[in-house]
Amino acid sequence: MRLLLAEDEPDLLRGLSQSLREEGYAVDTASDGEAALYLAQSIAFDAVILDVMLPKLEGWEVLRRLRLTRKTPVLLLTARDRTADRVRGLDLGADDYLVKPFDLSELFARLRALIRRSASEARPVLTLGDVEVSPAARTVTLRGKPVDLTPREYALLEYLGLHRGEVISRSTLYEHLFDENNDSASNLLDVHVSNIRKKLGHDFILTRRGHGYLIEA
Ligand code: CA
Repeated sequence: MRLLLAEDEPDLLRGLSQSLREEGYAVDTASDGEAALYLAQSIAFDAVILDVMLPKLEGWEVLRRLRLTRKTPVLLLTARDRTADRVRGLDLGADDYLVKPFDLSELFARLRALIRRSASEARPVLTLGDVEVSPAARTVTLRGKPVDLTPREYALLEYLGLHRGEVISRSTLYEHLFDENNDSASNLLDVHVSNIRKKLGHDFILTRRGHGYLIEA
């Protein structure tokens, strides 16, 4: 899953983006509102974490303009004791908010919920035949037994699993699994698919030549 983090406070931007990457997300960053809007309009992020108070263009305006063209889930970061800000944000099309300072565990849980909802998935554990995927624990089991996946393999499996029944193109997978800093890993998509098949069964991920990959519903 690929996130945009828009935050102008350098330490927070650095710390948060590192924590999100350790949690398995691909992360692009913006330190002002104009950059955030440009990126959010250009790339199909799985979610945007948007600080309300940003230089050049406030978070409100980023959100308002983004909603003209995209329904990307947006989680607002707001200041304490600003109920009016949160109401305004939700009314402008934000999907959720967090009040600063917040616990990372809560941010991660809210992101998982946002991403689940945007894929119309209500259940927190994905059941894919004999395979179960738990995004909260980032664990995978096959017939009840744990299976070790690398972070990349896990990310690929989670994305295809959330969109099971749909053929997902290679370009869509590149867009959702790798951030701007990560082009070197892009050509390994086939290797990741092959490794997942070795671990979960050859027919678990199907190839539709010229179209992409599919996990059957
Ligand atoms: Ca700020």
